[in-house]
Amino acid sequence: MRILLQFPEGLKQKALEHASMLEAQGNEVFISASPTFGACDLALDEAKNIKADKLVHFGHGEFHKVDFNVEYIPYEMTAKLDILKDTLPLLENYRKIGIVTTIQHIHQLGDLKRFYESAGKEVLIGKPYGFAKERGQILGCDIGSASTIDREVDAFVYFGGGIFHPLGAVMATTKPFVVAEPFTRKVERMDSYRDRVRGQSRGKVLGSLNAKRFAIMASTKNGQHNMELAKLLKAKIEKAGLEAGIIVANSFDFESLDNMLEFDAFVNTACPRIAVDDPKRIRKPLLSANELMEVLRLKAETRAGGLHDSGR
Ligand code: SF4
Repeated sequence: MRILLQFPEGLKQKALEHASMLEAQGNEVFISASPTFGACDLALDEAKNIKADKLVHFGHGEFHKVDFNVEYIPYEMTAKLDILKDTLPLLENYRKIGIVTTIQHIHQLGDLKRFYESAGKEVLIGKPYGFAKERGQILGCDIGSASTIDREVDAFVYFGGGIFHPLGAVMATTKPFVVAEPFTRKVERMDSYRDRVRGQSRGKVLGSLNAKRFAIMASTKNGQHNMELAKLLKAKIEKAGLEAGIIVANSFDFESLDNMLEFDAFVNTACPRIAVDDPKRIRKPLLSANELMEVLRLKAETRAGGLHDSGR
């Protein structure tokens, strides 16, 4: 069988080991060198181009069905839980705790729950919306496991690496949010990010009020492709008397975007986190679809105000 292997950045160091194993079983094996950010980003074009019979995607569970033979090999990481005791002082006024984590630590959820229960807490674990598959699992684009229990809990704990995953959950909830990072051994409250991200969003909206030409970013990645939304946004921009073009790429390169000087602002329809995490990587405002709608609403209000004033 001809197989293409695909690894996220943190696992690329294990590529040859897996390739050799599969070759020893009589397969012809290739390794994708492209960056990948999730199972939303399968190397399907590469697999088809090299006429592979199967794509083996490491590190993430299935995101959604695709018309290709894909085997998903999630990667479990068992991290030490001793950092959890450092979260207790931050949780002492809260009894009902919602816990969330990433797919790499989902097998540790039972241990996390037992830890907090033995500390006298009641633990709730929510359901994801659909892109994530496990209870308690969050993705940057599926924070259902947190938001569905926001009303019931007094506080949240995220256990896992980095702030990419918890940031979406922090923004979609209203309760104190504690992050326990077992690798850097950092424990912190992330609630202050809410105001920071909202302020950043407001700044982008206000910075786009004079924009006349919008570039709508449409990704060709299997799980980020949303041409319907891109077309809908283009129609809304044009209805408002402005100009829009749909720009297409697999991965957007920020230097190339900066070269598209005709556009005054960019609107993201790909991974929802691009507009939150990367706005400073280009010179022009990089808006989410919701932020664009706010820009159009404010522009319409300003126009109506102007017409009203001139009629007085
Ligand atoms: S947050 Fe973005 S990169 Fe992560 S799974 Fe969702 S679409 Fe993919």
